[in-house]
Amino acid sequence: MRKHRIGIAFFYHESHSFSPMKTEIEQFRNEGYYIGEEIYDAYSGTKTEVGGFLDVLIQEDVEIVPLLCAAAVPSGVVSTEAYSIIEEQMLQSIREAGRLDGLLLALHGAMVVEDLFDPEEHLLGKIRELIGPIVPIATTLDMHANLSEKMIDYTPLHFGFKTYPHVDMYEQGVHASIALLKQLKEGVHYYASFEKLPMMPPSINMRTAEGPMYKMIEWAKQAEEEEGIYNVSVFGGFPYSDIPMVGASVLVVSFDPQKGKETAQKMASLFWSVREEFIMDLPGVKEGLNLAMSIEDDKPVVLADISDNPLSCGSGDTTELLREMLKMNIPDTLFGGLYDPESIEACRKKGTGNKVLLSLGGKVSPEFGESVQVEATVVALSDGVFHNSGPFNQHLRVDLKGAAHIRVGNMDILLIGRPMSANDPEMFRHIGLEPQAKRILGLKAKNHFRAAFEPIVGRIIYVDAPGVASNRLTTFMYRYIPKPIWPLDDIEYEVERRRTEKWKH
Ligand SMILES: [Zn+2]
Repeated sequence: MRKHRIGIAFFYHESHSFSPMKTEIEQFRNEGYYIGEEIYDAYSGTKTEVGGFLDVLIQEDVEIVPLLCAAAVPSGVVSTEAYSIIEEQMLQSIREAGRLDGLLLALHGAMVVEDLFDPEEHLLGKIRELIGPIVPIATTLDMHANLSEKMIDYTPLHFGFKTYPHVDMYEQGVHASIALLKQLKEGVHYYASFEKLPMMPPSINMRTAEGPMYKMIEWAKQAEEEEGIYNVSVFGGFPYSDIPMVGASVLVVSFDPQKGKETAQKMASLFWSVREEFIMDLPGVKEGLNLAMSIEDDKPVVLADISDNPLSCGSGDTTELLREMLKMNIPDTLFGGLYDPESIEACRKKGTGNKVLLSLGGKVSPEFGESVQVEATVVALSDGVFHNSGPFNQHLRVDLKGAAHIRVGNMDILLIGRPMSANDPEMFRHIGLEPQAKRILGLKAKNHFRAAFEPIVGRIIYVDAPGVASNRLTTFMYRYIPKPIWPLDDIEYEVERRRTEKWKH
């Protein structure tokens, strides 16, 4: 019997409709752009979705066909040009691959292109045109995917992350691969039941260790134990995408469409019932700093500058928290990583051990705070390359495009050459900074950093500074989202849903 040929591909971006930083092809090339065999070097042994695909397929009697992997750090919408280049490369690699019996595709689910609201749906449509309606496709999706009904039309097999911080990307890659192989080898038939909710909860309180998303994931796992149910994904959505398909949803993959539908409806009702728990009130910068100062602990206190978290599309260069921390000049304080290639260049020109005048941050989004003028000492310089040590994207190579450790008064600051969340302590350690040794850490981060930092830090305080990733959704001028939608509008979903059900019959 001839071997099955399984294609693997990855196309990842989370796009913020209100960010001024458009995502160009360069951002994909900086983060990860691998064609064909290059994919093995980049992802073998990593705890990523593609790492999961590879580990399963290598043990099977199948032929792996590596196609294309393109990923960029979350940012503003993807330019039409960048998307077209990647889509064409993807389709070209599928054309050149010849016959494929199955396709594993790691997607994000919240990409937006200048002229496309739902590019992942568009891409799947194009792929279906090429490979036909029969060849099985399985995808992995972020918990923050704004999943649309059309995506389900192309394949029932979508596997959302069940953890936030997303430390199960690898496991979902494994699940997708196993499901696809079962379909191919055993002829298993899957059904998808999809429920979209009229809500777009902010992600600040969407962690799966506690709170409403913990409950949802526990319920999802319970449902998966029931007969006829294969997989349950709960998607919180990504509220910074100004698109008609924004928001939360539930997807149930089953062997029994009736049971699948009932489970999806039940999960949607539960999701709706916990929605208010996603809302959090956060302290402002000064209030957060005073709170941090009042805490006696031998572990560092973290002030997370969530509104400028690069993994939520922040520019990584807003200055309000930095400015206040510099004013207070607290000993044993570390701030980073601040995106500022110009200042890194100025440090490079002066060399280590020397003083330099810098205008820090505030260059991409001055509306969220102007640059801060400082005299700094250049302590260390690096190329900015390290490998993640923590559980999030473990072992993946990260290239910051340069880094500088500077000292201003009592404060250590890490400057980095492209926006990147402080999700792994190696970001600091690779240049000789030990976050564990500090009293206060000001981090450009939100939730993912907890996976690696929680074991070494004490209290974590989210501060409400100005920024594009603010959890106050009322600050954004939405144009394309469906109305009404919670939490912007006060609606009664159950009533609405029952009414819609009546119309259907
Ligand atoms: Zn996510």
